Amino acid sequence: MTAFDRLWVWDDPAFAESLGWYLAVAGNRKPAKFRIAGTVPVAVSLADAGEDGLWQEFERLTPVFLARLGRIRDEGAALGAPAPGASLLDLCRELSQRMLGHCNFCRWNCRVDRSKGAKVGTCKLGGETRVSTYFHHQGEELIYRGRLGSGTIFFTSCNMRCAFCQNGDISTDKDNGIVVDARTLATMAWLLRMEGCHNVNWVGGEVTIHLHTIVEAIALLGGALARPSRADLQIALRAKGDPFFVSNLAPEQASYDGAFNAPMLWNSNFFMTDEAMKILRPLIDVWLPDFKFGPGRCAITLARTPHYWEAVTGNLALIHDWGEDFTIRHLVMPNHVACCTKPVLDWVAENVPEAPVNIMGQYHPDNFCDPGNPKYQARYAELARRPSGGEMRAAFGYAHDLGLNFESISYEKNVMGLWQ
Ligand code: SF4
Repeated sequence: MTAFDRLWVWDDPAFAESLGWYLAVAGNRKPAKFRIAGTVPVAVSLADAGEDGLWQEFERLTPVFLARLGRIRDEGAALGAPAPGASLLDLCRELSQRMLGHCNFCRWNCRVDRSKGAKVGTCKLGGETRVSTYFHHQGEELIYRGRLGSGTIFFTSCNMRCAFCQNGDISTDKDNGIVVDARTLATMAWLLRMEGCHNVNWVGGEVTIHLHTIVEAIALLGGALARPSRADLQIALRAKGDPFFVSNLAPEQASYDGAFNAPMLWNSNFFMTDEAMKILRPLIDVWLPDFKFGPGRCAITLARTPHYWEAVTGNLALIHDWGEDFTIRHLVMPNHVACCTKPVLDWVAENVPEAPVNIMGQYHPDNFCDPGNPKYQARYAELARRPSGGEMRAAFGYAHDLGLNFESISYEKNVMGLWQ
């Protein structure tokens, strides 16, 4: 048992049960899902098959993968050998590359060919991926940050336009950070885990818009990137946001059955397509969806994002139906408890009642909602303050009355007064 396993939070059966797979992978008692996907052989030529043929093969292999996952998770079955040729992991990579040619990663469904970079969609991105910074994040929930931090990699740009974005420097500046290819990205993830991080936390901006590079990086972690070279590390270290000590690398904290292992955490606004969700299913060990806006017009007026409610609730229902490990975040916004917080919590109570929910009080005026920022726009005056104590108490009280599982995960920070 590791120090991470001994954290008090795991004494709460609600966490131990709903995040059991994540915890086992974090402690290297189980292989991450991408390792299992690497053992499932593909029966078509990835280079020659058309995209429809690749999807047919994917649909054929998904039950095979799930059966193998179930045996490993529930019966203690061995991982097995990597597939001799192409695997489901490679198929996920190939599909995400094909999708880039008519981008439908997210619900905007722009259908532009991002691989050539001549046209861009709402996210403003071509085929390039940029990382703003990456480090041991000590500000995530205890279940993710543990003692040594969540291995968080911040990508630039976003597919939503939240006027109050709390990461505006990253999400609104698509040229922030450094350009990374899949190998550099895999090196960053490898390094964070080797340094003791409890997970690889893919976040932005928004991650979905970088699906092709992330999936390729995960595929490398599952095979070709046994150990990054000195040159790989030198490139990756250009964006590292915290100290790096070679002497602190601890492979025993990062391996299962002799190869790299780490839980993959998808930290996203969840404004994704079914196709993106499907590709991620065999790769992601724990999901961290952000569920912000109610079903009214707030997603449009504050984030210029239509179809928000249908897309996000649809994807939340999917991971629930799939039996995935996940926790939900809800950021309480000033003056939006009635229109956003309460309907969001109602939906959770009705549809995914056992899910741990972090009701977050750290909203601060930022970006277009910060009167101290030159970008400030008076039409967002309702968002130009922190949520009040009364609003936070109303949110917590409502969640309590609904019987939601939110206290442990929400209070461990709020008792420190970070929302006041
Ligand atoms: S990621 Fe989303 S916003 Fe960007 S081009 Fe693709 S569909 Fe459009």
